[in-house]
Amino acid sequence: MVETDVVNRIVQQFGGDRTRLLDMARAVHAELGHISEETVAALAKALDVPRVEVRDMVSFYAFFFREPHGTNVIYLCHAVVERMQGADDIARALEEATGTTFGASDPDADITLRYTSCIGLSDQAPSALVNGVPVTNLTVDDVPELVAALRGGRDITRLRQAQVGNDVRTAGQVIFAPTERGAAVRKAVTMTPDAIIEELNVARLRGRGGAGFPTAMKWKFCRQAKEDVHYVVCNADEGEPGTFKDRAILALQPNLVFGGMTVAARALGARKGILYLRAEYEYLLRDLESELDKRRHLGLLGDNICGCEGFDFDIRIQLGAGAYICGEESALIESLEGKRGAPRARPPFPVEHGYLGKPTSVNNVETLCCAARILVEGGAWFADIGTKDSTGTKLLSVSGDCTKPGVYELEYGLTVLQLLERVGAENAQAVQMGGPSGQCLARKDFARSISFEDLPTGGSVIIFGPERDLLEAMRQFTAFFAEESCGWCAPCRVGTTLLEKCLQKILDGKGTFSDLEALETLGETVKTMSRCGLGQTAANPILTTLRNFPILYADRVRSDDGVMAFDLERAKEECCSVAGRAPATGEETP
Ligand code: SF4
Repeated sequence: MVETDVVNRIVQQFGGDRTRLLDMARAVHAELGHISEETVAALAKALDVPRVEVRDMVSFYAFFFREPHGTNVIYLCHAVVERMQGADDIARALEEATGTTFGASDPDADITLRYTSCIGLSDQAPSALVNGVPVTNLTVDDVPELVAALRGGRDITRLRQAQVGNDVRTAGQVIFAPTERGAAVRKAVTMTPDAIIEELNVARLRGRGGAGFPTAMKWKFCRQAKEDVHYVVCNADEGEPGTFKDRAILALQPNLVFGGMTVAARALGARKGILYLRAEYEYLLRDLESELDKRRHLGLLGDNICGCEGFDFDIRIQLGAGAYICGEESALIESLEGKRGAPRARPPFPVEHGYLGKPTSVNNVETLCCAARILVEGGAWFADIGTKDSTGTKLLSVSGDCTKPGVYELEYGLTVLQLLERVGAENAQAVQMGGPSGQCLARKDFARSISFEDLPTGGSVIIFGPERDLLEAMRQFTAFFAEESCGWCAPCRVGTTLLEKCLQKILDGKGTFSDLEALETLGETVKTMSRCGLGQTAANPILTTLRNFPILYADRVRSDDGVMAFDLERAKEECCSVAGRAPATGEETP
């Protein structure tokens, strides 16, 4: 059978290594177009593992088809920002032009339409991945040409829309400053591992993923773990809706990323590094591989790096296959080992028991860039930037209702209002800071500062203008979490779906005050009882808007006896008459 031959050949290419199952599945999928039950059986047989193990893995990832599909696949991004920018109109135009619906293929099996969550292009929305090629700033008028190009077998990379702009709106001193290839590694080989870690300690560098764990401490724990093998992993799986800063770093500063990984290897005593690249960024792979080749050629990777006897280190790139949860470090490690990306119970932490059971430091792309820059410029230099507890700069991916969406590298300590002025969004109704898993801020919060002390963020900043239906956006965020839940624990698996249904009921005008209480109670349960960060933050869109925008909710529910519970306009008038003030216009600055 063709499937068996293909599978056996590919399994052989990977040396029959079970831990490379994700790569094998990707390769099989690329060749056969989908992974059928027969292919699953062939993979299981070739690897001598239970069939359920393979099925479990391939069914987990969004980019694996289990059934045949069209020759061309359009993944239209259907995340909140993209819908704000007109993705629903694009969807209708695509259905009309192709004669099929989302989730299906046209009768000639030319084109399959699928929705996908954030693909890291919210600054250029609406966007899509067409046969893996990113197309951006789509308009309804673009759709017929795109469909005709696919049907005519034309090269879609030549289309005007097939381009990704990586303009950085503000370049700071750390990430987007000019970089000399290899400078950090050349410095690292003159230092002891302890001295490197101490330099990060002086810099007070904290992880840029949002949690802000001190990087020096992470590296120290990993180094101290008593094992002969250690790993460095770069987490380039930015999947938080509205985040795209890593896309810009990987495109513009790959040598800073790889430099940071090599510095980490020197500090930890690691010989192997892996960059986990989200499948949505596969189009960056060729350039990243080319940068790795250059570094090998220059002696910045390989054996005896920069002439340093015994300093051997190399990096491979692992592509994902579409799963938000793999941004969580233990889920990412599971995925690297060729399994479904389900988070592990912790402890033990990856610094002691990580990839293949060995001590592993998983670091964010931006964090590794900071580490490389610190080696070159010094920890004291870095600590002078930003605030006391939030040193350095932070990359922000700004999207939504603003005139200048894009990537901004700014010093920590900036207020939300200062950011809004810079990006052209002074009239914002709300700001989703840190993406859906962060918090939805109201105007009263706009004087707060972006920092670990006040408003920590992984970098996604989604702006909602005064006309947006904020609660509908929160419903979409909640639906996203329900879709991405790995299903391991009930509070997250069931709770996210119940939260979305309850909010939908309120949006449909059928909610009551009891539903608001239910939202609050259920949200707290999901937050406190879930196993990993996804579940622990999945209720944030609802919980933070219940706290910061209570009137929006009160305005849409009825009392339990069916009478509208709250008349906003009447309440405002009554308040103003009691206080002797004119009604607010909504234009006030905080
Ligand atoms: Fe999976 Fe959600 Fe539980 Fe995390 S919280 S382990 S994503 S079900």
